[in-house]
Amino acid sequence: MKHNIMPEERSRAWVEINLNALGHNINDIRSKIPEKTEIMAIVKANAYGHGVKKTAEKLYEEGIKAFAVATLSEGIQLREYISDGEILVLGYTQPDNACFLHENRLSQLITDNEYAKALSNTGLSLHAHIAIDTGMHRLGTEPDDFEAVESIFKCENLIINGIATHLSSSDGSTPEDTEFTEMQLRKFYDLISELNSKGYNTGKIHAQSSYGIYNYSYIKSDYVRPGIMMYGVQSQNGDTKIKTDLQPVLSLKAIIAQVRWIKAGEHVSYGRSYTVEKPIKLATVSIGYADGIPRQMSGNNGQCIVKGKKVPIIGRICMDMLMLDVTGVEDVKPGDIVTLIGKNGDEEIRCEDMAEASGTITNDILTRLGSRLPRIYLND
Ligand SMILES: *Cc1c(COP(=O)(O)O)cnc(C)c1O
Repeated sequence: MKHNIMPEERSRAWVEINLNALGHNINDIRSKIPEKTEIMAIVKANAYGHGVKKTAEKLYEEGIKAFAVATLSEGIQLREYISDGEILVLGYTQPDNACFLHENRLSQLITDNEYAKALSNTGLSLHAHIAIDTGMHRLGTEPDDFEAVESIFKCENLIINGIATHLSSSDGSTPEDTEFTEMQLRKFYDLISELNSKGYNTGKIHAQSSYGIYNYSYIKSDYVRPGIMMYGVQSQNGDTKIKTDLQPVLSLKAIIAQVRWIKAGEHVSYGRSYTVEKPIKLATVSIGYADGIPRQMSGNNGQCIVKGKKVPIIGRICMDMLMLDVTGVEDVKPGDIVTLIGKNGDEEIRCEDMAEASGTITNDILTRLGSRLPRIYLND
């Protein structure tokens, strides 16, 4: 018997990453945004579970030169793989750790003028982008406080390479959502005009994450910041203003550990949470909530695909295993592959479907996929 892949990689549960799909998605996004706008690829949280090393290297190969991460440690790690692109740290870095920003040539997102001064006072020259809070109220300086913004530009040791805001409602489709988003953009661009008219170089301007692209693709900016979109899924099922041709990059698979018949009247899983009404063929699968499968999906229309057929998850999802009713599938045996996200035969379960069955969004599903799952790269 000949193996292409080390046997242990597919021996329990794993993630498959289709790097060609990632490349395809980059081209698709590029075709939807203004010509001069570049992609700043969001690869925080281990590239949304896809594995940051291979993902970033593929993106770099596709011509991506700007990246963003959430934390200083993620930035330091990414710098090992990407030696000459821009890496922006979106989260807060303690001024005490400024030396790591400097040494790794990371850009830091600046929340406010106090923080800017604290970083500048370290005496290290640091690259920075300024965060403007146009209404989300998470991080940033208020655009009305012109003096505060101005004093960030005046910090001696900060090299301001960009200015950014974050849209809180760009995924919404009501007139109020649109109005709110337009208000955020107006405040942002008015501030930039004022800064430019006073001679400040605002550098790279960026405002849109995935839904900013899906619904406001026409905005002229220097960077767009797609995360979830790049990985080929929407945050949840629903319409977007532009039509895309994105392909899911990630599939999730596990193998069956045991198959047997269970009599009517018996129960399945913890708390006897599922009662068997007529005899069923039960398959136990080697994946559970410690691998990132949401426990909330228990009893909530969660499904998997076995031998090209969709089958229901029954009973509570356990830490390392879950159970399926495979009564309608012939010839199921230990070692058979179960698809939790992805295609099998003519059937497909999309990440959006798992998110819906768990009452969450795909960003949450992907970023919680556990470190216990090997990442296997296709078309590497
Ligand atoms: C996470 C993040 C993004 C990417 O968001 P998606 O919705 O996944 O595209 C963009 N910008 C900022 C500031 C973020 O924190």
